[in-house]
Amino acid sequence: MKEFGFELRVCAWAERAWDGGEIPLVARQLGTKRRRWDTVVCETTHEGLDRRAPFGEERLDSDLLFVARNAPSSWAYYREALPDPGYPWRYVRDAIHRAADRGFLETRKRSGRIELRRRYRYPEWFDRLVAIENKPDLDAAAARALADQLRHDVALGLADEVWVATESTGDSVEPALLEAIPVEVGILAVSEEFDVDVVWNPRTLPSTSWGTRILELPDDDRSAARFEYADAKWKRRKRLEIAERAYERGWRSYAETMRPDCRQFELRDPEGPFPYCAEKGRPQTAAECSGRCPAFEPEPPSWRQHGWPIEGGPGSAAKRLLEAKRNRRR
Ligand code: SF4
Repeated sequence: MKEFGFELRVCAWAERAWDGGEIPLVARQLGTKRRRWDTVVCETTHEGLDRRAPFGEERLDSDLLFVARNAPSSWAYYREALPDPGYPWRYVRDAIHRAADRGFLETRKRSGRIELRRRYRYPEWFDRLVAIENKPDLDAAAARALADQLRHDVALGLADEVWVATESTGDSVEPALLEAIPVEVGILAVSEEFDVDVVWNPRTLPSTSWGTRILELPDDDRSAARFEYADAKWKRRKRLEIAERAYERGWRSYAETMRPDCRQFELRDPEGPFPYCAEKGRPQTAAECSGRCPAFEPEPPSWRQHGWPIEGGPGSAAKRLLEAKRNRRR
C-alpha cells in the first residue's frame, strides 16, 4: 500500500484502538521545523478537553500560547504582567487583541495603557504525546536509513514515545528491522486487514527534562558527532504547539489539500472515511489529487443546484462530513 493510504489507516486505527489515555486525539504531519512526524497521538481525557474548550476550536499559535499561559487573574498593565517575550512587544500586543477577540481574556485601556486579565486559566489538557513513523515497505536498508531519524527523536525526547508502524510480511517482522531500530522505539506490525500487533514496546522518553539535539552523526568512527542541548522550557513550548495543532486539525484535514470538488473524488469506508479516486479505481495520494491532476474534472454545476452556493455540491458535503467527524472527537 502507498504510504499516504497506510498513514490514514494507521490514524484510523489509533483513533479506534489506541491503548493509552481516555481519548486519543490523532493528527498527521506535525512536529517542528526540523522534524515532522507522520502520525501524532495526543493522549487526553474528557475532562482535559472540557478545560481546553473555552479557548476555541482553532489552535493557539505560539504568540497566543504565550499570552494564554501568562495572563494574570486580575487587571494589570500587560508589560508588567507578562514576562519579557524575547521578541518585540508589538507582537505581544497583537496577540493580546486576538486573544480578546477569541474571548479567553479581557482588555481595557487605563491612562493610554493596555491592561489585561484572563477569563480562563490555560489548562494542562493533555497527558502524553506519541509519535508514529509510518513505513509500509520497510526492508533492512530502509530501516537503517530511518534509524538515524529515530535516534534524533530518542535523543531529543520531545515525544513521550516513538513508534514505527510497518506492514507485516507474513506473520513475522524482518529481523534486520529489529536490529536497526533503536531499542527505545516501539514497532507496530500492520496486516493487510489492518490488524495491528505490537512487536516491540517502546521506552518512555524523558519529555519533561532537557534533551539532546543531534546536529551531525558521522558514519565513520574518526569524526566527532555534534550535539546541542534543548532545554526543558523549549520542549514544553513545542509540545504545547504540537498538541494545539493536533487539536485543531485532527487527521481528516487531508481534504483541505486534496480535490473533493472533483467529480471523481469519493469517500469510502465509514471507519475513515478514506479518499478514493473513481477514475484511477484505487485510493489516490494527496500529491496526485490536486488541480494539476490530468484527470481532474470539476463537479458539474447541476450537482450544486440544491442549496448551492450555501451548502455546495458533493465536494463541500465531503468536507463537512470530515469536519463533523473531527468535531465529534473534541
Ligand atoms: S481524478 Fe485526480 S483530482 Fe480527481 S479525484 Fe482522482 S486524483 Fe483527485
